[in-house]
Amino acid sequence: MTGSFYDVIILGAGPAGLQAAIHAARRKVSVLVIGQPSKSSAYKAHIENFCCTANQSGKEMLELGRAKAVEDGAEFLEQDVMSIGAGDDHYLVETAGGEKLKAQSLILAMGISRNKLGLSGEKELVGRGVSYCVDCDGPFFKNEPVAVIGSGSAAAGAALTMLFYASAVHLVCDTLDVDGYLSEKLHESEVKLHEGRKVTRILGEDAVSGLELDDGTKLDLAGVFIELGAKGAVDFAGRLGILLDETMKYIAVNRKQETNLPGVYAAGDICGPPWQVAKSVGEGCVAGIEAASYAAGRKRAGRDNG
Ligand SMILES: Cc1cc2nc3c(=O)[nH]c(=O)nc-3n(C[C@H](O)[C@H](O)[C@H](O)COP(=O)(O)OP(=O)(O)OC[C@H]3O[C@@H](n4cnc5c(N)ncnc54)[C@H](O)[C@@H]3O)c2cc1C
Repeated sequence: MTGSFYDVIILGAGPAGLQAAIHAARRKVSVLVIGQPSKSSAYKAHIENFCCTANQSGKEMLELGRAKAVEDGAEFLEQDVMSIGAGDDHYLVETAGGEKLKAQSLILAMGISRNKLGLSGEKELVGRGVSYCVDCDGPFFKNEPVAVIGSGSAAAGAALTMLFYASAVHLVCDTLDVDGYLSEKLHESEVKLHEGRKVTRILGEDAVSGLELDDGTKLDLAGVFIELGAKGAVDFAGRLGILLDETMKYIAVNRKQETNLPGVYAAGDICGPPWQVAKSVGEGCVAGIEAASYAAGRKRAGRDNG
């Protein structure tokens, strides 16, 4: 990375984020893409219905997209974003590796998380102790014991957040997969780490009463947070005041891919179905052009006033 203040920061390195990066960078603004191509929905897919590829592997397509974005001037940071916020005249982005970055404009292209645990009881107990969103439901578990399940940055961040509310916080994961900075914060905290363990059962009839692990351990709990992906649309939206659409699952945007916040755009699966590469790159193109134009306008206004 060459700096900490970018004209445009794009969250997500899937088809939407890559196309946004290409269109923004070609307009001569500074662009940083934060995200991991290997975590894109397209990475393990064979893309069979996109007009410009013939049964191409998603991995190959993402590699080509990234190379093109770099050629056009975009920079890349392969990390997860943990939080976004608003400063006086810019947006703030903090990554799981502890980087603190600023941007005139943001493009949210983080896709969707389809990850469920798939255990019996999970679906039935959603809203009755099982949750997929600490930012939404964390405060309901004041002074109660909870567990977070997951091994990535979303899970680690969720466990640390729950320390503000819960009487005890367990983190259950197979192999912890987070950057050094976050791992350090976790190990220094009071989170009880159950590494190398799998959950075999969610306990409880009408509401969650605990978890059973594969070594026979039983944890008595009031809440279970399933965090198997990175932080997604709803988490960020809730924190920054971005409006969701009528389903309350996706970011609401207009035809310019603008959200309700000035300078914040969204593109791809995060804006809702159909979950397709063609739609994602189309929206990414529009978001890239609009974000670059917004950032360039802000810079011009700054120069005229200064
Ligand atoms: C098995 C499978 C087969 C598919 N087949 C097809 C097909 O044939 N044709 C088709 O058109 N579509 C297909 N799709 C759908 C297609 O892959 C998606 O529509 C497309 O990848 C969406 O692009 P996106 O950029 O919006 O999100 P994604 O490609 O999911 O990319 C999201 C990006 O955001 C990043 N990210 C997430 N959270 C964070 C965070 N907190 N901080 C930083 N980065 C973050 C991820 O690391 C990733 O880089 C398939 C999907 C699957 C799962």
